[in-house]
Formats: sequence, structure tokens, C-alpha cells
Amino acid sequence: MITDRLRDRIRQTGPVSIAAFMTEALFDPKDGYYATKDPIGAGSDFITAPEISQMFGELMGLWAAQSWMDMGSPVEFQLVELGPGRGTMMADALRAARTVPGFMEAARINLIEASAALKAVQAQTLGPTGAQIRWVDRLEAVPSGPAIILGNEFLDCLPVRQVIRHKGEWCERMVGLAEDDEAFVFLMGPPIGVDASLVPDSLQDAPEGSLVEIRPGDRQVVETLAQRFADQPGRALFIDYGPAASETGDTLQAIKAHEKVAVLEAPGTADLTARVDFQSLLHAARNDSLTGYGPVEQGPFLLGLGIEQRAAVLCQSAPEQRAKIARQVWRLTDPDQMGQLFKLVCLDSAGLPPPAGFSAS
Ligand code: SAH
Repeated sequence: MITDRLRDRIRQTGPVSIAAFMTEALFDPKDGYYATKDPIGAGSDFITAPEISQMFGELMGLWAAQSWMDMGSPVEFQLVELGPGRGTMMADALRAARTVPGFMEAARINLIEASAALKAVQAQTLGPTGAQIRWVDRLEAVPSGPAIILGNEFLDCLPVRQVIRHKGEWCERMVGLAEDDEAFVFLMGPPIGVDASLVPDSLQDAPEGSLVEIRPGDRQVVETLAQRFADQPGRALFIDYGPAASETGDTLQAIKAHEKVAVLEAPGTADLTARVDFQSLLHAARNDSLTGYGPVEQGPFLLGLGIEQRAAVLCQSAPEQRAKIARQVWRLTDPDQMGQLFKLVCLDSAGLPPPAGFSAS
């Protein structure tokens, strides 16, 4: 059990960072949340945009096809998805992008997935598409050449560190054991030293007691993209939840069966995520010489890409589904549903035209 292993580790070597706790809880190869479960869907722990409606993945597919044309329609390119979940978005994307002549012939599809259980689901979902699919362990392992990279709700589950302003210094928030030596509790750890530079500039002077989340995983993704796109054309699109500008506050949450549960209780049995800091992500990307667009809200983005027109076509061929399809559009685009909280950023190599859906930014 993860709980026992984490307790032993803390007893032996002391409290662990939030990022370490999250890594164990989500990715322990034997008992981790993603290692053992297929958590996505109506009957599971949470639901995502591609699972709400096929229109989401279809529009992503058309966006990818437009990006391919923006790159000059290379005869071969790497189409990559980070954290493909049940494979639904890729299946819908391919169905839509197939209508663009040459796209499917050029696409080499790479899936990057940490969970063995979800890899199996992806194989099942994507088998019927007939597309050649390969799973790779890391972004660095994707073959060279032009690339289009997609990630929906991928960044939010990368481990996050939490730091607290304490006596004028940024200190690591950690997980230790309560006096009973059993229950997990949050503790104030030591100052983080030079890592304090990872706190966004706009939050450096936050008042005593403020909590800031820093996201080493996002930085690593940005660095890998920057290295790749320095000499190969490429474009990456991330869709996730979070504010447009960096904010203080603890956003780490555990979700089980569509309900919030206590973050430190029963690690490995609930999904742990924290909102994405789009401002820091874009700042890091631009510092690394990437071109960054966004963030734009999911509602306007999908409306701009034509979700209503697509819905009208679907309604025509299945009039009895009209109410259901209207409800799907509402869930994906309404500001009180996913339309505002979820946002998109695009990072690309120099010299490409602005990506579809971002031209205003
Ligand atoms: N994109 C899907 C799934 C989102 S859930 C959807 O929208 O439905 C997050 C996904 O990212 C899961 O597939 C999870 O297993 C995967 N994942 C999380 N961290 C990962 C990592 N470090 N490397 C590869 N995959 C990861």
C-alpha cells in the first residue's frame, strides 16, 4: 500500500515535499492512482472535455490539420498527445482531420502515457481507426522532424510544489506524520534557497503566510519543447484549468467519484491535480525563445473554431439528439461550466503564422 510505504519513508528520512507525495500517489508503478485505474468517464472519478462530446476532439483534429498546413504540409510529421486518457480525443481528432487530404498519410502518431491501464484503453479506442500508433515514454523520445503536440488536462496532474512565505523567506510546504505517527499532516519545511526565483515576480512580495504553487513539471515540458523547436518546426497546444494571471493560494485537490476528498487521505485512491499557472508557463516559454500565444478561454476558442456549426451538422443527421448536443456545447463553452476556467495556450517554433483560435492575442 502507498500509505504504508509513504509512512515508512517519512519515518526513516523525514517529511516529503508535496511534489514527492503527489508523485507517489499518482505514479507509483504498482499502486499509484494512474497505474491502477481507468479514472475517466461518467461512472469513474472525473470527466473531461473529450468525454463530454466528440466535437471537442474533432475541433482539435481540425486545429492540428490547420497547423500542419501552416507548417507547409510536410510529407511526414510527428503528431503527439501527452496524457491521452481513454484515447477519445485522438480518435475524434483523426476522424475530423482525415478529411484534409494528405494529413493522415503524413502523420506519425505518438502517445505519451504514464498509466499501463490507460494505455490498454487507448489501444482499444484507437484500434478501429486503423492508424499506426506508437507509445513513447517521454517527449524526448519522439522521433525528430516537424511536430504537433496536444495535451488536454495533462499539465494539471504534473507534480506541484507548494511554498509558503514565512518570516520573509519562501519555505517548502511538506507532508509529515501527526503525533499518532499514522495520519499525514502538512508541515512547514525549510527555506527553498535559490529556488525562490521560481516564485513568479508578481508574487515575490506576497504577505507573510501566502502560499504559492510552483510547477517544476511544466518547466521541464517547456524546456523540452524549446530544445526541440529550436531547430525543428513544431507547435504545442495545452488545454487546462487555471487563472490567466499567477495567483497565490492552495489549489491542490483530490477528486474521487466526482467529489472532492481530503488531499492527504488515502493517497493512490483519488486523482490529485492543481490548477495550471498559465502566466508563468508563457513567461518561461518566451524566456526559452518559444513563441507563446494565449491564454484564451475554452468557450471563445471553441466557438471561434466553429463548435456551433459542427453541432448543427450533428443535429441534422440525428435530430433526436438535438437536446443532448446543445447541452454538450453548453458544458464545453458556457462561462459557468468549462468555458472560462479552462484555457488554452499554444507554444511554437519561430516563423509560423499565428495558430487558429489565437489570432487576436
Ligand atoms: N487527456 C485525457 C486525459 C486527462 S487525465 C482527457 O482529456 O480525457 C491525465 C492524463 O495524463 C492521464 O492519461 C494520465 O495517465 C496522464 N499522465 C499524467 N501524468 C503523466 C506523465 N507524467 N506522463 C505521461 N502521462 C501522464
